[in-house]
Amino acid sequence: MLVLAIESSCDETGIALYDTEQGLIGHEVYSQIKIHADYGGVVPELASRDHVRKTIPIIKALMAKHNLNKADISAIAYTAGPGLVGALMVGACIAKSLAFAWGIPAIEVHHMEGHLLAPMLEENKPDFPFVALLVSGGHTQIVEVKGIGEYEILGESIDDAAGEAFDKTAKLLGLDYPGGPLLAKLALKGEPNKFKFPRPMTDRPGLDFSFSGLKTAAANAIRKEGIHLAGGQSTQENAPENVEQTKADIAHAFQQAVVDTIAIKCRRAIEQTGHKTLVIAGGVSANTELREKLEVLMKKHGGSVFYPRPEFCTDNGAMIAYAGAQRFHLGSKDLAVKAKPRWSIEDLPAL
Ligand code: ATP
Ligand code: MG
Ligand code: FE
Repeated sequence: MLVLAIESSCDETGIALYDTEQGLIGHEVYSQIKIHADYGGVVPELASRDHVRKTIPIIKALMAKHNLNKADISAIAYTAGPGLVGALMVGACIAKSLAFAWGIPAIEVHHMEGHLLAPMLEENKPDFPFVALLVSGGHTQIVEVKGIGEYEILGESIDDAAGEAFDKTAKLLGLDYPGGPLLAKLALKGEPNKFKFPRPMTDRPGLDFSFSGLKTAAANAIRKEGIHLAGGQSTQENAPENVEQTKADIAHAFQQAVVDTIAIKCRRAIEQTGHKTLVIAGGVSANTELREKLEVLMKKHGGSVFYPRPEFCTDNGAMIAYAGAQRFHLGSKDLAVKAKPRWSIEDLPAL
């Protein structure tokens, strides 16, 4: 059974073909980064328009590349939420229209379930039950996973998501959008312990996060060091070569604070649930420091960590195709277009 998937929740157009017997046949991700970079963040209307331009041509090209035609496709999975409503509408309308024209069902997929199940696309898959850390541009959640659709959110961010904090701090350091991976790269040149940032909400029990204060702490350090906010240019008090090193030191300290904070909460979740498997997914799970820290943590607990390959950490169609294939039985031929900007993963039905 072959599933075609469309991901369009934010600024990536992701298309994939997943076969329930053969696995992933192929996928394509078109990133709109260049379109939004000048604005320092995603402009929703521009995102929607670009999904309109790109979705059909990418579907056509991917099907042609694999010598497949409409008769080979059994269902179309699409991201129904959460995400930008206009961007979601584009993917949903195209999925529903194609499914209607081809006489096959369309399956609505939850974007975060897509992220959560992305490690299942790898050869070495995690077994249920496990604890999942979802760390992306819009979410930071620790979820207890007993099976597909059996999700309980144990903790989440009360303000910014981890990826959002990375991107905002990167912007303050004068890095391009999206700055998360660039900040991680800059942090490699940073000297440890030059700056010390807080580990928010680790001094009290519970699994919730707060990252907005960390961004403010970084902003204060940047200001104190005489680095122009968001411009990154040096001032008279600080020579340009020192500014570059200082920025790297701040990036290092910021990343360390985020990684430490996440690791402390993951340790608590593992101890609280008794599960031996930790799954990390979402864009920030591509972060090497985070992966290494959590590997060490799980080793200490006699357990293991699973994560997707980097291209499946950030938004992609493959994860939507996989999640859609699992929920094939929920596919529908009705014409109601589903786009849910807000949608809790806890509201999904168990398989
Ligand atoms: P959501 O999935 O919550 O709707 P999203 O789809 O925008 O949000 P993703 O595509 O999963 O988020 O992830 C993008 C985020 O991951 C960005 O904030 C980006 O900066 C961050 N990110 C990607 N790679 C890294 C890295 N190596 N280190 C830190 N952050 C990273
Ligand atoms: Mg994106
Ligand atoms: Fe995402």
